[in-house]
Amino acid sequence: MVNGTILHDSEQAKLERLNAPQYSCCGICGRPWNVVKTHTIRIAEHRGCFAQCEDCWKTASDHDIRLCNELLYYDWMNSGSKVGYSKEHLMECVEWALAERRGQVQKPYYDYSEGKRLPWWRLLWLKLTHRL
Ligand SMILES: [Zn+2]
Repeated sequence: MVNGTILHDSEQAKLERLNAPQYSCCGICGRPWNVVKTHTIRIAEHRGCFAQCEDCWKTASDHDIRLCNELLYYDWMNSGSKVGYSKEHLMECVEWALAERRGQVQKPYYDYSEGKRLPWWRLLWLKLTHRL
């Protein structure tokens, strides 16, 4: 995460970043990766994206989680790096991760491959049983 897009920056986080300029940081609290652990959101079978730290993953609102992942995606695009998947795919994976965080959906229910959707009967069942 670049420094300009930290959602809830603090003086402490700024100090920590000054002391660890070689590290990137959490997009929500701004603390660098040498002091906080990354929380990875799976976006492919062997690929993940970490816009937020474990602490923020536990406490941040759904809105902030969505926003910081979206901002990270734009950062990648702007830096010219090959992202390899669409923003829609990332946001879909974020939604699944959030549903899982709420305890509504377990991992086996969904597939991480881009373009693959859950079968309609599975979605209907999840809706009917209030898991989605
Ligand atoms: Zn954080």
